[in-house]
Amino acid sequence: MRSIIVTGGSRGIGSAISATLAKAGYAIVINYNNSAEKAFELCKEIQEQGGKAIAIQGDVSKTADIKKIFEQAYKNFGTPYALINNAGIALQNSLIQDISDKQLEAVISTNLIGAIKCSREATRYMVSEHCGRIINISSIWGEVGASCEVVYSASKAGIIGLTKALAKELAPSGITVNCIAPGVINTDMISCYTQEDIEVLRNETPLGRIGTPNDIASAVEFLISDKSSFITAQVLGVNGGFGI
Ligand code: NAP
Repeated sequence: MRSIIVTGGSRGIGSAISATLAKAGYAIVINYNNSAEKAFELCKEIQEQGGKAIAIQGDVSKTADIKKIFEQAYKNFGTPYALINNAGIALQNSLIQDISDKQLEAVISTNLIGAIKCSREATRYMVSEHCGRIINISSIWGEVGASCEVVYSASKAGIIGLTKALAKELAPSGITVNCIAPGVINTDMISCYTQEDIEVLRNETPLGRIGTPNDIASAVEFLISDKSSFITAQVLGVNGGFGI
């Protein structure tokens, strides 16, 4: 059974990805940082439905934690087939001049450096297998930029650069690297928006709704599958047409 590590698998998009991939027959490593209860609940649900999952605590901005996640994943399920770099935090509604060093460093070290370090650790296990997938969760803001979300946008643009460069580096090893750039998705991350803000975003989305975590999970399921074996270095916008 192929195993997949989902960073930030405890809530929101990561939780939907974990549940969807478990149903598709993969063993899931649900990484969480603070939301232990949610991660173990999801793990139990997957196991009760006959799937395989474990929950592992770890902060993706810390190298030692990343090593621990991969060691425990390997002990339980062997070499991972895929890594989903999903863990992320946002810094919304902040003008650049008001952002502290601490806030800036937290976003970059979680969203971008965390994804780079997790990818580095994953390749140490995966390269000798000559197959596998890395999928990075970027954002539409990484493609077009968002006012008052400068650091977040920069971190997500970096994810796109990471995807393209790593795809070239890992292609000879048979590993594909792709990126999903979600539009506005209904999770805790957008809870800072007012109902009016959400309505504006919905109206700006040609398909007339904001997205769900399952919209992203379905795209991940395709990119993980053998049906996507000739696709690498791509940025797939899952955004209802938002931003076009
Ligand atoms: P969310 O509901 O706020 O969930 C964030 C997840 O990331 C949680 O599982 C959280 O784990 C985990 N996480 C945060 N910091 C972490 C760290 N240092 N180490 C390990 N895990 C960490 O957000 P979401 O909307 O599902 O976002 C998931 C991804 O999609 C993010 O990369 C985000 O930037 C991206 N995205 C979201 C949207 C959107 O509109 N929602 C749009 C574009 C892109 P704990 O709770 O366990 O700490």
